[in-house]
Amino acid sequence: MSEQAKKPAKKKVELDPRFVNYRHVWVVVESERGEVHTVSWELLGEGRKLADTLGAQLCGVVICGPGERGAGICAEAFQYGADQCYLMQDEVLADYRNEPYTKALTDLVNTYQPEILMLGATTLGRDLAGSVATTLGTGLVADCTELAVDAETRNLAATRPTFGGSLLCTIMTQRHRPQMATVRPRVMSMPDADAARSGEIIPVPFAMDEQTIVTKVLEFIADDSRDKPNLPFADIIVAGGRGLKNPENFQLVHELARVLGAEVGASRPVVQAGWADLERQVGQSGKTVRPKLYIAVGISGAIQHRVGMDGADVIIAINSDPNAPIFDFAHYGIVGNAMTILPALTDAFKSHLAQARKAG
Ligand SMILES: Cc1cc2nc3c(=O)[nH]c(=O)nc-3n(C[C@H](O)[C@H](O)[C@H](O)COP(=O)(O)OP(=O)(O)OC[C@H]3O[C@@H](n4cnc5c(N)ncnc54)[C@H](O)[C@@H]3O)c2cc1C
Repeated sequence: MSEQAKKPAKKKVELDPRFVNYRHVWVVVESERGEVHTVSWELLGEGRKLADTLGAQLCGVVICGPGERGAGICAEAFQYGADQCYLMQDEVLADYRNEPYTKALTDLVNTYQPEILMLGATTLGRDLAGSVATTLGTGLVADCTELAVDAETRNLAATRPTFGGSLLCTIMTQRHRPQMATVRPRVMSMPDADAARSGEIIPVPFAMDEQTIVTKVLEFIADDSRDKPNLPFADIIVAGGRGLKNPENFQLVHELARVLGAEVGASRPVVQAGWADLERQVGQSGKTVRPKLYIAVGISGAIQHRVGMDGADVIIAINSDPNAPIFDFAHYGIVGNAMTILPALTDAFKSHLAQARKAG
C-alpha cells in the first residue's frame, strides 16, 4: 500500500447551517467620558489576527453618549486595526449602566450577527459580557490568556487558567454564535497604531426610554484610585516575595525600585502578610503586568504568580534556591541571599545612574 493510500482522506468540515450568516470579528471599544481603555486596542491587535485567519472583517463597537467623541474613538480604532466601527450614541448611554448597554449590544449582535465578540475583562467589560451572553444564550469564556481560531470550523479556541491556575484549558463554543471572550488588560500585546489607516463608521440608532431604566446616575465621582500604583502599565517592576522574610527586608525592594524609577510588585503571601497593598499583587488573583523589566526577588515562581508576569520583556530572578521554578522561565538569574544582593544592586545602580547623568 502506498503512503498516500494509508492516509484517510481529510473530511471536509461542514459549517453548521445556523451559523452561515454569522460573520466577522467584533471588539467592544470601551470608553468612559471619551477616554478609551487601552485593553480595547490590545483586543483589536488580537482581533486583527483572528479576522485575517478567517478572511473576515474586524469591527469595533463604540457605545457612548451623544456629547462624547464617538467618531474620534472610531478613527482611533481604525488606526489599531479595525476595518469598520458600529457607532451607537444616545443620551441613555452617556454613563455605563448595565441595562441600556446590554440592550444596545444585544440589538447590534442580533442585527449584524458577528461570529466572535470580544470585550476587555475590566469591571465594565465583565459586567456587560455576562449579561449579554446570558441574554443571547451563547457561550462566554472569561479571562482568556490566548485566542486562536480554526479557519475551517471557524471555532474560537479560547485558553484560560483553571483549577486555581494549575492547568490551562481551551474552551470552544461549538453550538452557539457569537463566540464570546473577555481578556484582561495587558495579557495581549499592544499593537502599533497606523495613522494612515481609516475605515467605515456605521451609525446605528438606539431607542430606550429613560423611564424604563431602573438604575439612575445621580452624580459622577472620579475614581480615587487614579493616583495609586498603576502596575499593569509600569515599564519596570521590582517585585518581592516571601523569601524576604519580613516587612523590614521588604523595604529593600522599595529602595531598589526608587533608584530605578520602578513600581513595586508583590506575591500573594506578601500581600496577605500585610507587607504590601493588594493593588501591588501580581498574578492570577492580582494584576497582569507586561513591563520591559521585571525583577523578582525571593519569589518561587508558582504558576499563579507566573501567569501575571511572564509577558515581561526581560525577567531577572534573585533567589537563594538554584532549583526554584522561577529560574525555568527567567531570562537572567542570580542565586543568592536577597538581603545581600538587593543593597549591592541598589548601590551599583545609584552610582551607575549618577555617572550616566554626569556624562549627560
Ligand atoms: C487560587 C489561587 C490564586 C493565587 N493567586 C496568586 C497571585 O495572584 N499571585 C501570587 O503571587 N500568588 C498567588 N497564589 C499563591 C501561589 O500559589 C504561591 O503560593 C505564591 O506565589 C508563592 O509566593 P512566594 O513566591 O512569595 O513564596 P514562596 O513560594 O514561599 O517562595 C519564596 C521563595 O523565596 C526564596 N528565598 C527564601 N529565602 C531567600 C533569600 N534569603 N533570598 C532569596 N530568595 C529566598 C525561596 O527559595 C523561594 O523560592 C495563588 C494561589 C491560589 C491557590
